[in-house]
Amino acid sequence: MNCITSFTPTLCRVLNVAPPTLSAAETLAGVVRIAAPAFDGAPAEKCLIYAPDAIGLDLYREHASLFEPAREHAPFEVPLRAVYPPKTPVCFASMFTGALPEAHGIRRYEQPVLRCDTLFDALIRAGVRVAIVAAGGSSIDLIFRGREVDYFSEKYDPEVTSRTVELLAAAGHDVVVAYHQEYDDALHDTTPRSARALRALKNHVESFVTLAKAAAQSWRQFNHLIAFTPDHGAHVDVDTGRGAHGDDVDEDMTVMHLYGAAPGSV
Ligand SMILES: [Zn+2]
Repeated sequence: MNCITSFTPTLCRVLNVAPPTLSAAETLAGVVRIAAPAFDGAPAEKCLIYAPDAIGLDLYREHASLFEPAREHAPFEVPLRAVYPPKTPVCFASMFTGALPEAHGIRRYEQPVLRCDTLFDALIRAGVRVAIVAAGGSSIDLIFRGREVDYFSEKYDPEVTSRTVELLAAAGHDVVVAYHQEYDDALHDTTPRSARALRALKNHVESFVTLAKAAAQSWRQFNHLIAFTPDHGAHVDVDTGRGAHGDDVDEDMTVMHLYGAAPGSV
């Protein structure tokens, strides 16, 4: 199984952008193979990255039918291993640098601004306009600060969705990252399979469909890639009886990423 670090070199390949310096992971050949014919050999011009927190591979497989609307927009499935420890800032730092925790430096739950070269720096060098939309204080909101990125710190997931829809409609960015956290919040308060957590999961799938449709509409003239990219999974902590993550177990350490490639119509 490839690692979530593969996300960065893969996106760079599909966008035809030189990867950031720490990017050491393998490109996901399957994603390149679906993008190349869809775009007739040309690079992608736009990309929507939807990053929901803590949706693991076991949850995905167990509730596969629930993801059906997401697969309509992003049908290509890529199972991936997270990085250890499977905590949000550690994993997103790895996804968006292409590097393991020892290389990017976030090795536990902490939210420093990353000083190393990231996907976003590589995109900016290539003239790509980037927006990051996330709830204020979340890891994605904080650790990639200090770049020529448009940052949008919102109240919670619904505001992230509406802001992202606005940004897509305005078409002022080439790569848009939207982060959602309701499922992660729910699993920590309850369990990964509680009614509240499953409702949050459905909300994430619905939000992804909303954003994918907005991207398809706004970017209809452009070759674009749509990605559904959670950071890690979760399990039930036997001591507390609640959901948790951070252990070297498959439930925490595996995720499913989804990709869709849509050609622009001229
Ligand atoms: Zn997380």
